[in-house]
Amino acid sequence: MQTSFSLAQLADPANAESEQILRKCVHCGFCTATCPTFVLLGDELDSPRGRIYLIKEMLENDRPADAETVKHVDRCLSCLSCMTTCPSGVNYMHLVDHARAHIEKTYRRPLAERALRSLLSNVLPYRGRFRAALLAAFYGRPFAPLVARIPGVGPRLAAMLRLAPARMPGRSASERAQTHPALGPRRGRVALLNGCAQPVLQPGINEATIRLLTRLGYEVVVSAKEGCCGALVHHMGDEATSHAQARRNVAAWFAETAPGGGAGLDAIIITASGCGTTIKDYGFMLRGDPDHAAPAAAVAALAKDVTEFLTSVGLPRAPDKGLTVAYHSACSMQHGQKIKTEPRRLLELAGFTVKEPAEGHLCCGSAGTYNILQPEIAARLRDRKLANIERTRADLIATGNIGCMTQLGGGTEMPVVHTIELLDWAYGGPAPDGLAALGNRAAAE
Ligand code: SF4
Ligand code: SF4
Repeated sequence: MQTSFSLAQLADPANAESEQILRKCVHCGFCTATCPTFVLLGDELDSPRGRIYLIKEMLENDRPADAETVKHVDRCLSCLSCMTTCPSGVNYMHLVDHARAHIEKTYRRPLAERALRSLLSNVLPYRGRFRAALLAAFYGRPFAPLVARIPGVGPRLAAMLRLAPARMPGRSASERAQTHPALGPRRGRVALLNGCAQPVLQPGINEATIRLLTRLGYEVVVSAKEGCCGALVHHMGDEATSHAQARRNVAAWFAETAPGGGAGLDAIIITASGCGTTIKDYGFMLRGDPDHAAPAAAVAALAKDVTEFLTSVGLPRAPDKGLTVAYHSACSMQHGQKIKTEPRRLLELAGFTVKEPAEGHLCCGSAGTYNILQPEIAARLRDRKLANIERTRADLIATGNIGCMTQLGGGTEMPVVHTIELLDWAYGGPAPDGLAALGNRAAAE
């Protein structure tokens, strides 16, 4: 694609990067067929190619974002399915990140929209605030149909209430900063991302990870100084906050790896693939920061999804569990991190029969805060995904991202668990919550 940025515009590193990305696009349109919003809405402007044109037009003319561009960029899930499909290697992720930051700097959203976005970015990334908000949402759930009728943001507030869990898990000891010693001969040392929303919604995920890794001989460090990876606000275009969150995590983990600073790390383990995609991009996000660029690149290189790490460790074959699992590959796992076969192979090795639903490349509609900000499209994607999953006739659903677990769990009676919970169970841990009945049935057969 031809571009016409001026030399002055290209002096800005963000413009220079986007110009290189735009030049790779050859307008072929292959990406449109695998874009969930194009598949649902059929509008070229809701396809990757259409959005690329809108973004090019906005950046090249150095103009403030207009309502039309904002509408179509806001509808993008950042699922990155287009990047998997694109034969020319267009880095849509970095382009849309730049566009979102430009929108936030140059476009004034309506007051109610600003208030909602501010609420999300000031609550979700902080465990204490999120826990308090969930408790309020728990009691507000019955009023969701009434709230939905409030003009403007009503449907989005109702979507937020509906996403609150029907049962509030208690605070887990695994949330506390500490070092979990290896059991048996020590094979290595890893850090585990605690993060923000996941330990509040499903503390069992990190508990299972710590149990399995320590049994495998790894010392597991949970740092006092880490927190939200920055993905939630990054996808809302708030570059300053997301970069500050990234810098805090880089400092926390780099201290463990720097000579004299800590005992070294073999990996930084991430159990939410949405966070993994962002942490693996820290080197790019902080490339212009002289104090953090090198440590950020080092941290990004150490970041591993837990299934990626376990594949490198190697697990033995476990007895057949007699259960069929529908494996839902999160977009951030398959498109963002290109981790496609590892979780499935691990589950098979652990004794589960694994089925992959049709249209596995399409997003379930979760996408960070997307299911709150775009509830109608998100609900259509969820229903389509669940229909494909239920056609597999599996006993349960496994996935590697808390956002997908919440999204899918809100629309089906099938149990939804994290892949690591099944692996921990297969190799000596307890059955995941809600699976004891299935486990008894499997044992009886
Ligand atoms: S990231 Fe997903 S929703 Fe956005 S343009 Fe690409 S395929 Fe479409
Ligand atoms: S597939 Fe790649 S090169 Fe083709 S239109 Fe989409 S982004 Fe451009």
